[in-house]
Amino acid sequence: MNPRERVYVAIGSNLGDREAMLARAREGLGRIPLTRILAVSSIEETEPVGPEGQGRYLNQMVLLDTTLDPGRFLKALQKLEDENGRTRGERWGPRTLDLDIVRYGTRRLRDPDLKLPHPEMLNRDWWQREMDELDRLAPPADPDDA
Ligand code: AMP
Repeated sequence: MNPRERVYVAIGSNLGDREAMLARAREGLGRIPLTRILAVSSIEETEPVGPEGQGRYLNQMVLLDTTLDPGRFLKALQKLEDENGRTRGERWGPRTLDLDIVRYGTRRLRDPDLKLPHPEMLNRDWWQREMDELDRLAPPADPDDA
């Protein structure tokens, strides 16, 4: 079995009922096998990154722990995006639901399909705020889980 690792997942939505979409994303994250939710950040609204004329984003971050490997975890997130009407259009274009793995334990990966930590981790100040909030909320990691 893989070691249990802490994963920070960013949720973003700028189309449709954004609050409802965040709620569905949280529920979906809670149903990923071998995974549990440890803490949920507050919701923050931000200006869109990318092409002009898009609506503002609602953002939230969830801290989970999992024994899935990063590739399978990413697949579970993509399934959740697809189930929630995500249309894969232009880069950084509007989306009903965007899920990003911001950090996955201390893993460093530079695969075309999966970059860890997320390359934008240090550039998005709201992600930094949300990670700090989650670290304050989450119980300390159990050394027996490592
Ligand atoms: P985006 O349209 O910005 O959500 O990008 C989706 C693509 O980014 C997917 O094809 C993923 O394979 C890839 N990707 C690379 N690194 C990550 C990551 N840390 N979290 C989520 N998707 C990632």
